[in-house]
Amino acid sequence: MLYRKLAEFYKEASENPSRLKKTEILAKFLGEIHESDKEVLYLLLGDIYPEYSEKKIGISSQLAIKAISKSIGTENSEVVREWKKLGDLGLVIEMLKKKKRQATLGKSDLTTQKVLENFRKLPELEGKGTVEKKLSLIVELLTSASDIEALYLVRTLIGDLRIGLKESTIKEAIASAFFSSDKESAKKIQDAIDRSNDIVKVFEMAKRGKLNEIENVSLEIGKPIKVMLAQKAKTIEEGFEAVGKPCAVEYKYDGFRMLIHKKGDDVILFTRRLENVTKQFPEVVDYVKKYVGGKSFILDSEAVGFDKKTKEYKPFQEISQRIRRKYDIEKLREELPVEVNVFDMIYYEGKSLLNEPFEKRTALIKKILKDQRYKIIRAKQLITGDEKKAKEFYKQALKDRQEGVMMKNLGSIYQPGSRVGFMLKIKPAENDLDLAIVGAEFGAGKRSGWLSSFILACKDEKSGKFLEIGKVGTGIKELAESEGTSFEELTKMIKPLIEKEDGKSVKIKPKIVVAVTYQEIQRSPTYNSGFALRFPRFTALRVDKPLSEITTLREVEKDYEKQKRNFRYG
Ligand code: ATP
Repeated sequence: MLYRKLAEFYKEASENPSRLKKTEILAKFLGEIHESDKEVLYLLLGDIYPEYSEKKIGISSQLAIKAISKSIGTENSEVVREWKKLGDLGLVIEMLKKKKRQATLGKSDLTTQKVLENFRKLPELEGKGTVEKKLSLIVELLTSASDIEALYLVRTLIGDLRIGLKESTIKEAIASAFFSSDKESAKKIQDAIDRSNDIVKVFEMAKRGKLNEIENVSLEIGKPIKVMLAQKAKTIEEGFEAVGKPCAVEYKYDGFRMLIHKKGDDVILFTRRLENVTKQFPEVVDYVKKYVGGKSFILDSEAVGFDKKTKEYKPFQEISQRIRRKYDIEKLREELPVEVNVFDMIYYEGKSLLNEPFEKRTALIKKILKDQRYKIIRAKQLITGDEKKAKEFYKQALKDRQEGVMMKNLGSIYQPGSRVGFMLKIKPAENDLDLAIVGAEFGAGKRSGWLSSFILACKDEKSGKFLEIGKVGTGIKELAESEGTSFEELTKMIKPLIEKEDGKSVKIKPKIVVAVTYQEIQRSPTYNSGFALRFPRFTALRVDKPLSEITTLREVEKDYEKQKRNFRYG
């Protein structure tokens, strides 16, 4: 397929903000994609492989600037100057190409296959001369591209397509392109996407017009899916109301989510960000092989850190470096041991358990897992309809230094990727949010050279935009002590994400998620969310949490309203 067709689609989609219209345009475009061009769908989402793949394009703005100047035949400084004016490297190359009259005469014959081929070589390159090789792969594409094609090539490279396409739009468009636009077909398609996490696979079956085949798209060992998430309840009573009596009450462990896949002798571990962390946790691989029966399964669990001497559980931030660190693994394993608490099971001996009731799934865990304290163990669970007993259990969970409890409906299915009402979390009222860093400022004096103050944003669930909500510089010193994240390290993590520099301030691509506490949320015209946080403080780097799951504007509004009520009544 000609890349031009895809670029034209991007343009049309970005010019039509209405969701209905976008779905219509996308459905038409999908109808025109030949089956042999199915991988165009990865590009459509700004990717080169399915979402779970670790091979991402990952090009920094700095490298993109070099590629643009080389392909146009101009100085880096001119590109940077225009970037400051336009704020988008895609627009910069489009403008420069027009200005230099490059490749606009006659139409380019760049194909999507060629684009994918070159893009897919980028993450494969390693060692000496990598930067030069990457540059030449990119420049080859940019020079043969027309101005509008170059615009989207650059935006894809830096991971910022700006066409406002949401996954929900895609499932609706697939439904209306190949079946009918009723809710039921869209739901079946969404379910298949959730189970496979591979849009191309679902598209391929849809194109063949077989809705029943789509229903058979199943989980596969080794391919991580998005985990099921919980809603909040304030009290045990409210929890029972939502999930019914009796229900399962479980400890809500303060660790990080770990998905355990096993097939034959292979054990693979994923975080909820779909990151493969098998290498970082060799002991967990051993525990699974030793203490869990069965040839093939997928377990859902929470890995919690504990003190190797006192055996007391530790808060999440103290073990988060085990996820990030790729070296000194043996040393870290000794110093920061984890216990895996298994609470769900979604696949067993070749069969998906997603549609089985929770009660059955949890009973099966009991059958195959030999509990080993401080290694791998079933999450503490009480099945009860008794409020008093549930409350005692909750108190005990807090005493045992865990965050609170989860209450789960016994008859419910496992719904990947959704925040569902049949799994609720209850924890003591705490003012905390998970936000993305979208900007920062260089410090002064001792801290010059380091970014020391950070702009945080929540997400507008409707538009998908990041909205600023405050600035924070407090809490990093403590973080440095507990999990080793210093100003220096944060600066290092942020530098490749810088999109724009203006004096001491930088605007960065949202990628890093942090947990913050605050004293109060106020209405404020200063930030474009309309809210500001009073006395915000960093509490953890949420390396386990994807951007798609950060606090939404709606949740901020809810917390603000709740706080108003609390102030009023005491
Ligand atoms: P929080 O910030 O409150 O941990 P979250 O946004 O990270 O919430 P939620 O889905 O809202 O995630 O809360 C559920 C999380 O709690 C799960 O993702 C999982 O990591 C963790 N968890 C701990 N114990 C359990 C358990 N027994 N069952 C399910 N999830 C558990």
